[in-house]
Amino acid sequence: MNIERFHRGDFWRPLVQWLFFAWIVGIGIRFSLFVRHFELGGTAPLVSRPSGVEGFLPIGALVSLKHWLVTGVIDRVHPAALVLLLTFIVMSLLARKSFCSWLCPVGTLSEAVWKLGRRIFGRTFRIWDWLDLPLRGFKYLLLFFFVKIVFLDMPAMALGGFLQAPYWAISDVKMLHFFFNMSATVLGVIAVLAGLSFFYQNFWCRYLCPYGALLGLFSMVSPVKIRRDLATCIDCGKCSKACPSWLPVHRKQAIASPECTGCLSCSAICPTSALAMAPPLRRDLLAGWRFPLLVAGLFALGVGVGMVSGHWETSLSYDDYQRLIPMARMLGH
Ligand code: SF4
Ligand code: SF4
Repeated sequence: MNIERFHRGDFWRPLVQWLFFAWIVGIGIRFSLFVRHFELGGTAPLVSRPSGVEGFLPIGALVSLKHWLVTGVIDRVHPAALVLLLTFIVMSLLARKSFCSWLCPVGTLSEAVWKLGRRIFGRTFRIWDWLDLPLRGFKYLLLFFFVKIVFLDMPAMALGGFLQAPYWAISDVKMLHFFFNMSATVLGVIAVLAGLSFFYQNFWCRYLCPYGALLGLFSMVSPVKIRRDLATCIDCGKCSKACPSWLPVHRKQAIASPECTGCLSCSAICPTSALAMAPPLRRDLLAGWRFPLLVAGLFALGVGVGMVSGHWETSLSYDDYQRLIPMARMLGH
């Protein structure tokens, strides 16, 4: 067995990605069993509610963030939504947009699809530069739209009302219903996106995901970056070819782009080890398994702090869910 590869950062990425993906699937299954118990009037077995499901409430998490910034009070209905958002922001500040290429289940699926496409066609495709740039801007427009609604248009007085409303209490259940009852239009859009991801690397992430756009902006100030050692680089250009974000790695001394997801594909392929994901002046600090450990550690730390500080479990009681879940389909219509 080649022990060397265990010391390479990129060796750990698929492992972390698919373990996290399995964890998310487990959360989905457990949450649907939890909801089923109440939908069937308590006749199905009760399982505990997984708080991690609140990671699927990013817009509510933004409202929760504003509420916390304005009032200093953390929402008790879905506290994990805010904890997860803050965790991913801190990860971006310290470890690039690593959420996208190490943890995000959509990113994991997108990557699996384009890798399958590359296996079939022997290559992936690139959109013309003149179209790529405005398309990349589209995710920032979507982000601006959500940030404007929450941070500019929503009066501070309305925040408490939103976070105490039955709609917010049951938003995770509504999200579950959305996933299980997709309309033909939604399925069509997903099919088109999956089809495009087959030919173009990470199509959704590159052009449309407002969450990735937000994390990318925070990642720009991260002291940790892909850094190129000019003395050992032989200008072969392999790093730029391997970069799924199409960044010109071999022409930069350090990669500060918000598109860099910290996937380590460039450093893994470099024949002279000229590239390292590192803070300034400490090239070896995050070498090998240390960057994966930083990514996983920051995530575990964020969730752990949320749990220990009492900001992870919902304040809703069994009776609340018994009252709210049967009316979930009516709320918001
Ligand atoms: S620059 Fe390197 S780490 Fe960043 S996205 Fe490209 S290949 Fe991944
Ligand atoms: S792969 Fe390594 S040696 Fe080749 S251009 Fe990139 S940094 Fe330089």
